[in-house]
Amino acid sequence: MRIAIGGFLHESHSFAPLPTTWRDFAEPGGWPAPQRPATLLDALRNSAAPASGAIQTAEKAGLTPVPLAWAFANPAGPVTAEAFERIAAWLIADLTAALDAGPLDAVYLDLHGAMVAEHFPDGEGEILRRVRAVVGPDLPVVASLDPHANVTAAMVARADALAPFRTYPHVDMRQAGARAVRLLAERIRRGSPFARAFRQVDFWLPITSQCTLVPPMSDVMAERERIATRHGVSELAFCFGFPYADFPGCGMTVTAYAAEQTAADAAADEFLALLYARERDFAGEILPADRAVAAAIAVNGQKPVVIADTQDNPGGGGHGDTTGLLAELIRQNARSAVLGLINDAESADACRKAGEGATVSLKLGGKSDGAPLDVSARVMRLTNGRFTCTGPMAAGNPADLGPTALLAIGGVRVIVTSRKMQAYDQALFRHVGVEPAKEKIVVVKSSVHFRADFQPIAERVIVAAAPGPVVADPATLPFRNLRPGLRLRPGANATT
Ligand SMILES: [Zn+2]
Repeated sequence: MRIAIGGFLHESHSFAPLPTTWRDFAEPGGWPAPQRPATLLDALRNSAAPASGAIQTAEKAGLTPVPLAWAFANPAGPVTAEAFERIAAWLIADLTAALDAGPLDAVYLDLHGAMVAEHFPDGEGEILRRVRAVVGPDLPVVASLDPHANVTAAMVARADALAPFRTYPHVDMRQAGARAVRLLAERIRRGSPFARAFRQVDFWLPITSQCTLVPPMSDVMAERERIATRHGVSELAFCFGFPYADFPGCGMTVTAYAAEQTAADAAADEFLALLYARERDFAGEILPADRAVAAAIAVNGQKPVVIADTQDNPGGGGHGDTTGLLAELIRQNARSAVLGLINDAESADACRKAGEGATVSLKLGGKSDGAPLDVSARVMRLTNGRFTCTGPMAAGNPADLGPTALLAIGGVRVIVTSRKMQAYDQALFRHVGVEPAKEKIVVVKSSVHFRADFQPIAERVIVAAAPGPVVADPATLPFRNLRPGLRLRPGANATT
């Protein structure tokens, strides 16, 4: 059996300052470059991409993978029409060529699910429409998704099944690709489409409340598993949504796939009821910087308090250089505190010129928001910013942050780098000689991904709102195209 394998992935923030261009797909930092049929299988088979799990599962099952095009770009603003059309044209041309070479039995697509293109706000709905137009209504088509997907009725109608990751931090991307191929095999055996039940949830889940390592989401995901088993559904696809996309399909969704409509409806409705029952628990607590630092200083534990500087998360579009939390640590005279990182090439260069042991006066950070911090600091350590990640998200990945310095300002140390990185890996700290577990306070520029590596060493995690563009409360953004009746935060009375 021949199974076509392609992909087109982007998570689009409608209010991010820069659009996502062809260049961003052509040079996707930290991810495989764009692929065409000649190279896809070898490039992706052992990668971290969901397609890796799909390829390996298909090959193990004796299916013949038929490679198409695949492209990924890091999260940023909406995808330009030019970039969307170029990649969609590749995908469709390769699919057409695959059909010309012989009959296909199924199509697997590696999609993100939260793509907004300039001319198609439901990016994946449009990709699936074009794929359907070529393969016809009956060929099984299944996609894996990132659970930040904003799943739409059009996506559900055009795909035979959607298989999202179950974790955030995302540590099961390959498993989702594998599950998508198993769903395709099940769909082929059935000989007819799954019964499906699609439900949109009418409140938004802030990113910081989506982490599946902690309640309420850890409970909710365990219950998802029980409900799916109890009703015997093939897939109970729960997507948390990406609440920065300004179109009517934005938000949390549940889609059940089953042999019988009654089972699909029952599983979807039971899980939906659970989400509403837990709504207020999702509100989460986010402290302003001054209260976050005061709370961390007050904790007297064996292990560090980890503060997440969520609004300047480089993984969500932050520049990694705002100084709100650093200023509070200094002002409140925190001891044994370390912050990773401040992305400021100019200051890192000044430290390099001054040398280890020197005292430097800097206008530190704040290049992105015009609010640097005047500090006098001692240069404790200089590095070239190169290290290998060791945590569950990125073990083995090389990091290259350029000239880097560890500075001490009283009892507060700060890692100053020349390039940005989300602080999701302890190796960032260790490479400048800091052992995070031995600190009293560790501040990370990250929203959720840090939890995979830092939660195990933390006495407590505090999510803080200091200045930065990755707003913890999306309700503060100027949305214009959401569907009516949506509550922009859990427990809110007001609707769009
Ligand atoms: Zn995601």
